[in-house]
Amino acid sequence: MPEALEAMLPFMKGDFGNPSSIHSWARKPREAVREARASIAECIGAEPEEIFFTSGGTEADNWAVKGSEGGLLVSAYEHHAVLNAVAHEAGRGRIVVHARPTRNGMIGVRQIADAWQKGIGLVSVMTANNELGTINDVGALAVEVHSRGALFHTDAVQAVGHIPINVRELDVDFLSASAHKFNGPKGIGFLFIRKGLKVASLLDGGQQEDGRRAGTENVAAIVGMAAALKANCARMAQVGKRLEGLAERLRAELVAAFPNAVFPGGDAPRQLPGFVSVALPGRSGEGLVHILDLKGIAVSAGAACDSRNTQVSHVLKAIRLPVCQARGVIRISLGAENTLEDVRRIVDAMR
Ligand code: PLP
Repeated sequence: MPEALEAMLPFMKGDFGNPSSIHSWARKPREAVREARASIAECIGAEPEEIFFTSGGTEADNWAVKGSEGGLLVSAYEHHAVLNAVAHEAGRGRIVVHARPTRNGMIGVRQIADAWQKGIGLVSVMTANNELGTINDVGALAVEVHSRGALFHTDAVQAVGHIPINVRELDVDFLSASAHKFNGPKGIGFLFIRKGLKVASLLDGGQQEDGRRAGTENVAAIVGMAAALKANCARMAQVGKRLEGLAERLRAELVAAFPNAVFPGGDAPRQLPGFVSVALPGRSGEGLVHILDLKGIAVSAGAACDSRNTQVSHVLKAIRLPVCQARGVIRISLGAENTLEDVRRIVDAMR
């Protein structure tokens, strides 16, 4: 995104100072990091001192999970950044419970209540699922989890910058985000930690990030992330509306071209704008990815196949999508630059 690049360039060309140093070269980068933190906080309704920069969504998720205490309850369709961090903690003797999403790809209060066990200290449920685009009612989940005496983390990597997120209204304790999901640079993200909460450090070392996340700050990436988020938030309503229209059109054209098309998570109450997960029974999702790639269109598959096996993603397994459908799943993410012409091009390329 041009806004991000513009903001980053001075820190890649000349303003090389380390923000933690005391000499004058540190002043400009230190001020830039301070402003970036304030800007990001404003975009999600947080206080600046509640934003902690990380190397991306994976680190933020690992930090929330590994820095917490007590048993862990997570949804079965979390990103592997949460699932594998939780598996690591299980190996250290913590209780780990998985909540099963509904067939239309949702985790609600009911799913949390059904999975609940004594001793749960942290619940982690993603705001929006990265394979289905379904959006959970995070505010309602936080109320339920707090009423049971535990803390609540949400992996909002797919949501921040795309749908309105206000940590105060949602009343979450931890929230993970990643810049490359909102047109910012790769390898940078943040964890929101509610003021006053204790969470063990993931990285020990220097006193950066208020002594809670060691390591010299990636100044250029931090300012790029803040600029990208600010630009995304400013045009979110307008872009979101356009993308919803485009996604609706894409679904209609897909149904017209492939009458047996199925949309995993498609009947969920809320979906990410511009996100379409579609299964074409009898086709190979992986094959479609290659066909579209040759035509300059990048999409993802829901199952990876070799000649003998079909490895269906854990998300499609969790929503109990039949394997014959899961084999043919691709997910298409439309962005702000896409047009109606692109929608037609995608469907034509799939025929
Ligand atoms: N969580 C979700 C929902 C994601 O989609 C991703 C990346 O695809 C991550 C976490 C990991 O983020 P990062 O790539 O910034 O480490």
